[in-house]
Amino acid sequence: MRLARLFRKHLEYQIHLIDRNSYHTLKTQLHEAAVRKAEVSIPVKRIIKRRNVIFHIGEVTKIDPIERIIYMENESLSFRHLVIALGSQVNFYGIPGLQEYSFPLQTLRDAQQIYTYITQLCARAATEPIEGQRKDMLRFVIGGGGLTGVEFAAELVDYTAQCAHNHHVNSREVEVVIIESGNRVVPQMEESFATRIQNKLLGKGVIIVTNTKIVNLAPDAVTLSSGEVLKTKALIWTGGIRINDLARESGLKTGQVGRIIVDKYLRVEGYPFMYAIGDNALAMNPDTGKPVPATAQFALQQGWLVANNIYADIFGIVREPYQPKVLGEVVSLGRHLAIGWLALPLLKKITFVGFLGSLLKTAIQEKHIFLLRRESRNWITY
Ligand SMILES: Cc1cc2nc3c(=O)[nH]c(=O)nc-3n(C[C@H](O)[C@H](O)[C@H](O)COP(=O)(O)OP(=O)(O)OC[C@H]3O[C@@H](n4cnc5c(N)ncnc54)[C@H](O)[C@@H]3O)c2cc1C
Repeated sequence: MRLARLFRKHLEYQIHLIDRNSYHTLKTQLHEAAVRKAEVSIPVKRIIKRRNVIFHIGEVTKIDPIERIIYMENESLSFRHLVIALGSQVNFYGIPGLQEYSFPLQTLRDAQQIYTYITQLCARAATEPIEGQRKDMLRFVIGGGGLTGVEFAAELVDYTAQCAHNHHVNSREVEVVIIESGNRVVPQMEESFATRIQNKLLGKGVIIVTNTKIVNLAPDAVTLSSGEVLKTKALIWTGGIRINDLARESGLKTGQVGRIIVDKYLRVEGYPFMYAIGDNALAMNPDTGKPVPATAQFALQQGWLVANNIYADIFGIVREPYQPKVLGEVVSLGRHLAIGWLALPLLKKITFVGFLGSLLKTAIQEKHIFLLRRESRNWITY
């Protein structure tokens, strides 16, 4: 949308947008859609309405950086500049049974599948007369205590409590367990925040098992690195991401989990007319020398910068290097609870806990929708 805005008076340039889906997913809200009816997608056509953007629904299968051609199943396009923003996919790390029997949470379809499955499981458990078996059916295991895992666990506790109430099941028979390989949940956050999040989750009744890995998954049980076997029919896997192999297979240089190596302008190494952004890019923070995490706030900033840089490339203006801005972090822990902080000038932080935090999270999500709407100008209804 930023490119379309910059080129609105240069209609001799064509902007092509390719996605395998006809809709844009509000991925940061997927954990909500996995437990209740939540609007987490917007038709792309509605976003780009009356904009100089040609939309193709298709699966990108290959990029030829030498001939400058991008291939889809039934179509190919030649390009002058290319922006690779294919996001990430689930990493099962080759753990036996995980891909076959777990439920990932990466796409809208994943969220819908989880919602349908746990709703049915809850209803089925209510008709199970043997207490032990009923409890096994009501044990929900979440593999990975990162951002997605803890946000989903908190939503799940609220949802299963409601479900148990609706089906007249004792809510004490429901268990939500997080298995985390590190020594605390949300290891990417500061320890004081992680401790607060952990305490809130414990307060909601979530069981947290740290320093433990999942080593095997069968249809009705998960084996842990401690040797313990937990009976479960629902393991939701939020333990890691990786990047589609197509970048590497197309000859692009990749690093950690397959992210594409980029320079300080986010150009793909060796190909100055191609950029990578979002989860795809192994973008470095020049202040820390470390890769920028795969999160939405950085993806959005990178999209904005790269649109400006392509405009600069074409019109001979000076390109800007990438400088990530950490605006804050907010973790939602159910419908009306969130913990987070926002950056203030002079390196100060303001902390939000509880209902105020959840208002802040909602405001951030609404801001994204608002910015899309502003960029598209003609997008009236949502
Ligand atoms: C459940 C969940 C909760 C999250 N919560 C937060 C949060 O609270 N805060 C935060 O900052 N980040 C969060 N994240 C991470 C954040 O969503 C991602 O970092 C961000 O969406 C990355 O943006 P992107 O544009 O790189 O990729 P995406 O948003 O994943 O977009 C990639 C697009 O490419 C399309 N695509 C992929 N492969 C192909 C192909 N081969 N051909 C055609 N199209 C393709 C997809 O359909 C998709 O539309 C969360 C992620 C998940 C899964």
